[in-house]
Amino acid sequence: MNGLFSRNVAALTPSATLAVAREAARLRKEGVNVVDLGAGEPDFGTPKLVAEAGIRATQKGETHYTATEGIMELRAAIARRLSLLSGGRAVNADNIIVSNGCKQSIFNACLCLFGANDKVLIPSPAWTSYPQIVHLAHAMPVAVPGDQEWSLKVSVADLDRWTDDAVKGLILNSPSNPTGAVYTASELKAILEWAKRKGVWVLADEIYRQIHYGVGPAPSVLDFPDDLLERVVLLDGASKAFAMTGWRIGFALAPRELAKTMNALQSHTTSGANTMAQWAAVEAYADDAVQADVAAMVAAFRRRRDTLVARFRAELPGVEFVEPMGAFYLYFRVDSLFTKTLPTATEFCRRLIVDEALALVPGAAFGDDRWVRLSYAASDAMLQEGVDRLVREWKRLEGERAQ
Ligand code: PLP
Repeated sequence: MNGLFSRNVAALTPSATLAVAREAARLRKEGVNVVDLGAGEPDFGTPKLVAEAGIRATQKGETHYTATEGIMELRAAIARRLSLLSGGRAVNADNIIVSNGCKQSIFNACLCLFGANDKVLIPSPAWTSYPQIVHLAHAMPVAVPGDQEWSLKVSVADLDRWTDDAVKGLILNSPSNPTGAVYTASELKAILEWAKRKGVWVLADEIYRQIHYGVGPAPSVLDFPDDLLERVVLLDGASKAFAMTGWRIGFALAPRELAKTMNALQSHTTSGANTMAQWAAVEAYADDAVQADVAAMVAAFRRRRDTLVARFRAELPGVEFVEPMGAFYLYFRVDSLFTKTLPTATEFCRRLIVDEALALVPGAAFGDDRWVRLSYAASDAMLQEGVDRLVREWKRLEGERAQ
């Protein structure tokens, strides 16, 4: 295969989660009762009002191209919602570009801002696509290890240590996938001030912002004055907050010139987001009644998180994990079980699926194969059963290790 494809995809690697997912699918086909806690999406349905708006748009014939940047009704609804979430600050809808999921906005931003010889800092662990997207822009991702004493977050000192003249950007994800950690307002402010000083672009991925276990939405870059946001791109979307992963609606809020360039790029790639989904998303962002669905979903995640954390403390004492403050993941460390025959979290997850038919995601997907991600976007019954299986396997492996 070497040489068959272009240099554009030379650094692309298939998702590290695939092997476990494939094995889980095979077992399920054989009739095995697989418990899947690997999902990266809410287990809830799209709110009824939102789904109905999508159907209505289809029936009304809203089935043609829209402007590349999205329909003004949606951009205005997003601007209003962002404004409400950040204490009424002004948000200009003209600077919002709607895309096919948040992922496309991340891609657009990276392609427009970074290129060969540029470096982009990515606090680690990190969502699996960031380094891949940076590579697709021909730039170099630089993993900045988070501090375990600090929920695997990074400080300004950590960022500084990895910064040289080639660093052009930072991709900051809060609440975080895979850790559930959330940067506080003062931590966020310090990072924005640092980035401004250094002239580094901040790509703030706030896709989990509304899934927060503190008061209100998680702290956002939009909580700060304009002078800190001159080189900041906010990346967000409907996927997680409104359980709309399949509708593929995301957006970027960027300084005007960058928004224009991202829009031009999008005009030559996807032409913009699905029309009917945009109308559904208008309902999601504009109708305050939908916020009740969001609140109910977040309350369920919070309850599950509390149960999960309590069970980990009681039944897996000594197992290190990040206490999630947002999103719907629990990230825990498994290297205390490592042996010659079980040297990685990937192998741990393979054993889990073979022995207990439990699917989790190894930390290799996020940059550190000593950790495992458990998603609690699953029913309460499924979650309880999943933890039963995990505890059983843990004891089994501890027993094997002691022999
Ligand atoms: N950013 C993070 C941190 C994610 O976890 C995900 C999805 O898993 C995305 C972005 C992509 O969102 P979308 O499905 O809207 O493209």
